[in-house]
Order: sequence, then C-alpha cells, then structure tokens
Amino acid sequence: MSSGFIRQPMGILGGTFDPIHHGHLRIAIEIYEQCHLAEVRFIPSALPPLRQSPLANADLRLAMVKTAVQNITGLTVDDREYCQTGTSYTLNTLQSLRRDYPETPLCFIIGMDAFINLPKWYQWQQLSELAHFIVIQRPNYVLPSSTPLKTLLARQVNTPQALVKQIAGLVFIANVPLCDISATRIRKHITAGKQLTGLLPNSVLDFIQTHQLYLQTNDRTIA
Ligand code: ATP
Repeated sequence: MSSGFIRQPMGILGGTFDPIHHGHLRIAIEIYEQCHLAEVRFIPSALPPLRQSPLANADLRLAMVKTAVQNITGLTVDDREYCQTGTSYTLNTLQSLRRDYPETPLCFIIGMDAFINLPKWYQWQQLSELAHFIVIQRPNYVLPSSTPLKTLLARQVNTPQALVKQIAGLVFIANVPLCDISATRIRKHITAGKQLTGLLPNSVLDFIQTHQLYLQTNDRTIA
C-alpha cells in the first residue's frame, strides 16, 4: 500500500450475473456517483466457486452483462476471468487488476450477503491487501456482532473520500437505498411464468427470451 498520491478510484463489481438485474445496475450507479469513481467494472465470473453451477453458461452471462451496461455512463465490462482456466477466484482477479493498475485505488463492491460470507473465500485475508471493500446493505442480511471480519472492519472509514488516500485496505459501508432484487428471485419468476417488469433491463429480458433461459430452475433457496 502507498499514500501521498491521488488517482481516481476504480470500482469492481464481481458476480455470477445469472442474470444481471436492476439491483446490480442501481448499486453500481449509486456507488459510481457517491464515491466519484473513474468507472465501475463489471467482472462476470466464468466459473464461480462456492455455489452451484450457474444455469446460464458463461458466454451467455457475459453477453447479458454487456447488453445491460452498454450506454450507461461510468459502467464497463471486463472479461478477464474468461481468459483464466479453472475456478474464478477473486484473489486472482484482483492480483491481475493490481498488476495493470499499480497506483489506482481499487474498490471491490460487495453486497452484505456476500461480505458476511467473505471468510469462506479463497485466501480472503489477502484481498484487502489488493483492494478496498465497499459494502452494500441488502434486505434480510445483517452483519453478525461476532465475525472473523472484525479485524477488517477495524479499518472501516465513514466517508468515500478516505478511499483515495491509499490504494487498498479500507472498508466503507455505503448508504444506498435497499433494493430487494436477486437473480434467484428472477430465475424463479421466469420458471413460474410471472411478470418481470421492473426487475431487469428490457434488453436482458429479450436476451433471456431469445435464448429460452431459466425455463427450469435448480434453485433450492426461497427468493
Ligand atoms: P443469486 O440470487 O443468484 O445469488 P445475486 O442477485 O446475489 O445472485 P450475484 O451475481 O451473485 O447476484 O451478485 C454479485 C454482487 O452483487 C454480490 O456482491 C451481491 O451481494 C451483489 N448484489 C446483487 N444484488 C444486490 C442487491 N439487490 N443489493 C445489493 N447488492 C446486490
């Protein structure tokens, strides 16, 4: 980590995006504006760890992300996880970004559901050496009072301005409106033949219909 320079931070939103939805787009836009980021990069996971296989294949999920973010100021797509073989670990992705951008504050944007589970991620303690965390509240997920994340949370800052002072290592819990949309809920709605208005962009909806995605679901959770 270094200090004493100012470079506009970059936001990173990793995910399965099975499919991408308005929850993803809203948090990216809110954080882009609130934290004055240079951009928010969507980085779809080709082969995500820690979850059952996505229903849509990696190429289709990438195509949906591209169609959703096109023409939205500040949002971009990065397909670097598609160039790696094997499981897409966030550690490898952040190391690769750090090589490309040695002096840029990197801000890994993460929903509270995923943040709570961070200690299960591969080499999770190294992640904060590579990036800051911007945590987004999510309905029904509350940070437990006792958590292995305690040492990381000791580096919590209260304003996004702090994120430009060093390139990694801080946690900012952002105040953005709660958005009760999940990909699980969308997949279940499609399988059940329910309406999707307001949950995802029309371009993604058209893509899903053209490719006949999610007509069957293997989700075990309640959305
Ligand atoms: P699934 O329901 O399949 O688990 P998801 O909707 O959580 O999918 P992911 O692609 O797994 O979508 O999410 C990528 C990142 O975006 C994660 O950090 C997740 O916590 C965050 N995220 C997704 N939806 C929201 C939301 N509505 N509010 C806040 N964060 C969200």
